[in-house]
Amino acid sequence: MYSYHEALGIIRQKVAGGAPSPPAETLRLESTRGRVLAEDVAADRDYPPFHRSTRDGFAVRSPDLASIPAQLTLRGEVRAGEHFVGKLGPGECVAIMTGAPLPAGTDAVVMLEYARVEGTAVKIERAAAARENIVEKGSEAREGSVVLRRGRRLGAGEIGLLASVGRAQVRVFVPPHVAILPTGDEIVPVDRRPEWFQIRNSNALALAAQVAAAGGTPQILPIAPDNRDALRRLIEQSLKSDMLVLTGGVSKGRYDYVRQVLEELGAEFFVEGVAIRPGKPLVFGRVKGKWFFGLPGNPVSTYVTFELFARPALAVIGGGDFEEAQFLRARLAEPFRQKLGLTVFMPARVESRDGDPVVRLVGWQGSGDLVGVASANCFLVIHPAQTDLAAGDWVDVMPRSQ
Ligand code: AMP
Ligand code: MG
Repeated sequence: MYSYHEALGIIRQKVAGGAPSPPAETLRLESTRGRVLAEDVAADRDYPPFHRSTRDGFAVRSPDLASIPAQLTLRGEVRAGEHFVGKLGPGECVAIMTGAPLPAGTDAVVMLEYARVEGTAVKIERAAAARENIVEKGSEAREGSVVLRRGRRLGAGEIGLLASVGRAQVRVFVPPHVAILPTGDEIVPVDRRPEWFQIRNSNALALAAQVAAAGGTPQILPIAPDNRDALRRLIEQSLKSDMLVLTGGVSKGRYDYVRQVLEELGAEFFVEGVAIRPGKPLVFGRVKGKWFFGLPGNPVSTYVTFELFARPALAVIGGGDFEEAQFLRARLAEPFRQKLGLTVFMPARVESRDGDPVVRLVGWQGSGDLVGVASANCFLVIHPAQTDLAAGDWVDVMPRSQ
């Protein structure tokens, strides 16, 4: 059985190796959040486009302030959205507002607080180094330089940048279609009243949200019963999509048919079981040219294994980078021991009040417990070698995505 990192490495190598680019489309910028850029985007001019003042104050020639206080002559004013006409000579200054271009001849801005104005005389009480309180033309990006590369996922920051370089429309990849196939004789649709021995299909809904958050278009298939023929028909139907995510039926129980049916359809398995908890029975492979993940059906297992393995794979299939789960660090609130030889993920809350972030487990009943997950804001991650941890030890946490 592979470790967490080995399994992740195999999935990365398989999906990233020679994956064809998905089709692209041109969209208005406001519709691109969560999409993946399908082109390199260059700066259309220098950024900033002029030496820009970052303060309200006075634009000066820094050598004029060699001895302080210095007396300068006020030549006028420049506001954001204007430019000063003319060039300043020695001993002269211009009142300048935040965001305005620096007048020719000046090289620094003195903040309002350090100047006193009497008529056209400005007394400066503090020296300024050259370039103080300005952002130089082209210092953020040079005209023609690439500011965002193809493959980048677009969030608010990237969309702001694309807007600033004038891209009202951009080329983005079409989101991959992901078929979600729930399995299990006990599983009933969410809008049906379950018998006392039945369970609602929560996984399909949670997975659809995870797929959408990961940049895919989810399609929930009908619930497959634990019956080979029906399962086979539904898997075949799902192969119109770019990727297949099954939940349930991958363990070794008598009625767990997922692996068997995939095998009958000619599937290759690249990962069969990972040394993690929850999620150990996970399988990953390729069937009839499509990637599939068989996730264990326990709701928390399904959630965690999707985040760890299916989400980064989906990012690549969608034209982006393999974005593996990022772990942050926090201090353990309470001691923790384990001798499982597994990477363990447990719902927890991380909070930072005054000092370092502290992580505390939420009460939970094991890998079926969605109440526990909903009250958590992260998963505490314990690696196989961490057998005996004390309160205050630094540990990994995986933030819970939305
Ligand atoms: P399995 O992986 O099929 O052995 O299922 C493990 C557990 O997860 C069982 O208790 C199932 O009832 C539950 N389960 C399986 N599929 C779903 C689903 N789609 N929604 C909610 N719970 C599920
Ligand atoms: Mg089952």
